[in-house]
Amino acid sequence: MNDVHNFNAGPAALPKQALERAQKELVNFDGTGMSVMELSHRGDTYDRIHTHAIKKIRKLLDVPDDYHILFLQGGASLQFPMVPMNFLDSQATYILTGAWSEKALAEAKHFGKTVIGASGKDGNYKQIPALNQISEHAQDSYVHMTSNNTIYGTQWHAFPNTKAPLVCDMSSDIFSRRIPVNQFGLIYAGAQKNLGPSGVTLVLIQDAFLQRAKSGLPAMLSYDTFVKSNSLYNTPPVFSIYMLGLVLDWLEESGGLTEIENRNKAKAQLLYEAIDESDGFYIGHAAQDSRSNMNVTFTLANDALTSVFLQEAKEAGFVGLNGHRSVGGLRASIYNAVPYASCEALVDFMKQFKNKHA
Ligand code: PMP
Repeated sequence: MNDVHNFNAGPAALPKQALERAQKELVNFDGTGMSVMELSHRGDTYDRIHTHAIKKIRKLLDVPDDYHILFLQGGASLQFPMVPMNFLDSQATYILTGAWSEKALAEAKHFGKTVIGASGKDGNYKQIPALNQISEHAQDSYVHMTSNNTIYGTQWHAFPNTKAPLVCDMSSDIFSRRIPVNQFGLIYAGAQKNLGPSGVTLVLIQDAFLQRAKSGLPAMLSYDTFVKSNSLYNTPPVFSIYMLGLVLDWLEESGGLTEIENRNKAKAQLLYEAIDESDGFYIGHAAQDSRSNMNVTFTLANDALTSVFLQEAKEAGFVGLNGHRSVGGLRASIYNAVPYASCEALVDFMKQFKNKHA
């Protein structure tokens, strides 16, 4: 099948323009006679690729000058222990909004005392806690949150103003909208949803927060190592960083974050309307005020039809619509590179499916 509507949760759809440019440059990058994967990471050509990616991040996300931009490895999952290893002193507060927050908390427990600042667990993570429900503590080294809950399809639409530095896992919505970077001490995100292929993790860290990091840690697990070496302490994932640069070129050419945010809202609205106007045939998982513009989660009132939906969707060219194994049902992940037209096609399919099976 050549053309598919890719609703994968991650790795996920990448902009065709970025892929085509990579294809064009694959065997001979910029007249070097080599691919990006074959260049020395200490050479001038790679240096330009690395610097380009960092500059684009700073510009498009409007990252203030006192924030370091790092490329790490080990996925967002390695950030779960790395954050507490570097910063957890007397205690840290964790806000639980889904399975990924729980994993971050579990890793922090290896390093010290943790407190839950708010949790949506009792409500099956349908809702983001209200800002005034979050409890903070004077002893907090930091407060940890997850901006978008990939599995449950919920998203924070405003961020808490915490006294302790706010640390945020933005793996599944970074670069999907404008964010107040200066409200955070540290932001991390695996690249494989909105930024490029897997293999690189983006970290933004405020210098004042970095100064609180512990010393005496293994070099590869210390943020300071990567700050001092401009993320070139060891061999970085060069191809992933190159692709990230191409994806951000595409984002800028598409109008930047304001435009992409509008497009993402329009795509999400289309799908949520189809759910809400289905007379209960489709049921949205997330509470209205907590709905994610990245991952639209829903179930069928008649659960027995879920496998039929997935089979017919597959035959019609839709990929990745199964819900996460821990929640079930259906999920359409509509990251930046998923076209509006794919969402329209999915809505048409959902309507036809309902007419056939209701
Ligand atoms: N956090 C969130 C919000 C995620 O969606 C994911 C991956 N789906 C992760 C963390 C884990 O990321 P990785 O696979 O890069 O370790």
